[in-house]
Amino acid sequence: MSSEAVDYDAQVAAVREAFEREFERFARFQGGAGTEGLSLGEAETLLRELGELRTRHTAKKSALAQLMKLIGRVPAEERAAFGQRVQALNNEVATKLDEAQAALDNRIGQLKVERERVDVTLPGRRPRRGHLHPITLLRQRIEDIFVSMGYAVEDGPEVETDFYNFTALNIPELHPARSPQDTFYTTDGLSLRSQTSTVQIHAMQKRRPPLRVVAPGRVFRRDTPDATHNPMFFQVEGLLVDRGINMGHLKGTLSEFVRRLFGPDTRTRFRPSYFPFTEPSMEADYSCFKCGGAGCRLCKGSGWIELGGSGMVHPNVLKAVNIDPEEFSGFAFGLGIDRMCGLMYELDDIRLLFENDLRFLEQF
Ligand SMILES: [Zn+2]
Repeated sequence: MSSEAVDYDAQVAAVREAFEREFERFARFQGGAGTEGLSLGEAETLLRELGELRTRHTAKKSALAQLMKLIGRVPAEERAAFGQRVQALNNEVATKLDEAQAALDNRIGQLKVERERVDVTLPGRRPRRGHLHPITLLRQRIEDIFVSMGYAVEDGPEVETDFYNFTALNIPELHPARSPQDTFYTTDGLSLRSQTSTVQIHAMQKRRPPLRVVAPGRVFRRDTPDATHNPMFFQVEGLLVDRGINMGHLKGTLSEFVRRLFGPDTRTRFRPSYFPFTEPSMEADYSCFKCGGAGCRLCKGSGWIELGGSGMVHPNVLKAVNIDPEEFSGFAFGLGIDRMCGLMYELDDIRLLFENDLRFLEQF
């Protein structure tokens, strides 16, 4: 046995030395010091590496674990002393690892708290305020002008029966005027209104003359979208029915309207036109608000901008809602809000109004 004499002390010393060599870079963290300059990333890396070191030196197959196993096999007379030394080394390793780990844990905790600390002296974040859509802004200005002239603002359904959308407006079935006003239909015979003129009929059924209403709202056409067309757009319908109403009232009303909207120097001109629900019918133009009538890019050099269609309410329309055309007469007009909005803001493409792009909408 003497030839196999083993130097147990040397074995313990070798295991300690191997550990110390690797632990050296962590030694400064013992006692909780040495972590002051570490960034969060550095501390986290060191902690991970320390964990790997712990595994290498204390796990089941580590040299230290082998020493522990060896205790039982050491000759009885040397066992106690050897056992104590191995145990001491085991404790020493564990303590060193624990202290370094605690220091790193501590530093990481501190840095995380600092990172997440709320500075109560910082000014608060201002909530983003929304604002009205350009179409809504213009619609409200138009409503205000007509309300000040004694008109009531009327609302009507967007889904209509054939009667309100066509027949009552003197557009019987197979009438050619149905074609340019073609809209979207449901399978059970309803349609999306192709004009706000439908509200004329509702208004006249609801209140008997004399009446003055404007009806702003969404209308629908089977148009292919392009820079000046959308299958959905906004109109304002106006209707006045009373005794003794003539063309002069209509011209005066629209002239006053454009003067209030675009300025007191705005002029109007009226051109004969055709609409099934008015007779006579006319298109109204106003002098360009940009060049004052001299001609510019906005008015395509003509000096005039189209306002919309208008005319004296057709007797058949009055008859459709049981108003006697011998007693009452009236005028009606329809203005497109989108196109007016596009001109006022000089938009190249009215589709921009409905794309919900905040970069565009926040400019208003
Ligand atoms: Zn112009």
